[in-house]
Amino acid sequence: MLTKILKEADIKRLTELVKRAERIVLTCHVRPDGDAIGSTLGFAHLFSSLGKEVKVVTPDQAPRSLTFLPGFRDVVSFTRYSDYARRLVSEADLLICCDFNTPSRLDNFASVVTDAKCPKVLIDHHVEPDAFCDVSFSFPEMSSTCELVFRIIAAMGYYPEMNVESATCLCTGLITDTQNFTVNCSDPEIYEVLMKLLAKGVDKPRIVREALKVKSLDAFRLQAYALDRKLELHSDSHLAVVTLSASELEEYRYERGDSEGIVDRPLEIKSVVACFFLREDSDCIKVSARSISDFPVNEICKKLFSGGGHVMAAGGEYKSGTLEDCRRILIEAIPSFEKQLRECYKKGN
Ligand code: 5GP
Ligand code: MN
Repeated sequence: MLTKILKEADIKRLTELVKRAERIVLTCHVRPDGDAIGSTLGFAHLFSSLGKEVKVVTPDQAPRSLTFLPGFRDVVSFTRYSDYARRLVSEADLLICCDFNTPSRLDNFASVVTDAKCPKVLIDHHVEPDAFCDVSFSFPEMSSTCELVFRIIAAMGYYPEMNVESATCLCTGLITDTQNFTVNCSDPEIYEVLMKLLAKGVDKPRIVREALKVKSLDAFRLQAYALDRKLELHSDSHLAVVTLSASELEEYRYERGDSEGIVDRPLEIKSVVACFFLREDSDCIKVSARSISDFPVNEICKKLFSGGGHVMAAGGEYKSGTLEDCRRILIEAIPSFEKQLRECYKKGN
């Protein structure tokens, strides 16, 4: 039995809202990942089977690595179909926001969501959520939003109705946010959730392969190049920095999602405690950070790159200069966190 962490009153409210709604729209953060798409589609498959009209609307396009997910092709991206997305939101009776804690994570889609007249529900595992929804399920201790969605569905009494499509999507978020149960997976209950999803017929090896491993030859070579040629080590090799410029990305015919996983790899080096990956996108320098031993990369991302996230997996966007400016800001900030870097290294060794 899973520990009861959800407030009964909130579950009752959500159940009422779902029962009353004919049209439900689910949304998630910009540059959606497995947990964002998994949680929204996981709910969508369940609500569809209950006879609801359901749409997942994302701020921008989801990565190719997730095309294997059932229902992926029906996801509406606001950047591509903004009028349609606006209409879906205006006609919805219920709006469910998954895997983000502030409207700014919706990019240009933010005002559409905040201006929506229908009730809004937040379902998320990031710290310090903004109060922009009528009902909030905010549980930073959860491994993933998908784990939280599973618990909510179970608490609503809909586990028997959960189909293999829904279970597959939810299992994907569990797998991507825990990197196939290697990080954020110390709570024994996550394996109970996994067991209950597998019982629905989920093909776990396929999810691991599609969502975490398989990539195009260009993406494979880009990653090899980044790790071989663009890796810098600082602070007694406790800090890794990888940068990729727009021209380097172009050389490898970069497509969205191709750099997924680069930021994790330097942590395989024994001395490395934290890694920052800086990528020159068309509208910003995208910062991605990972760490071990509770080194708080989210605080650094918040302070330097108006970002945030989890203690050991965070990110941000830098919009006031070049890739080199962004890199310099990070390097110049090293003295402010070097001591903590060393302490975390000692803790982990
Ligand atoms: P990733 O490196 O996979 O893009 O993001 C890892 C985590 O960092 C995400 O789950 C999210 O919590 C956080 N994150 C990434 N980018 C941003 C950002 O631009 N702003 C904020 N607030 N959080 C971010
Ligand atoms: Mn997540």
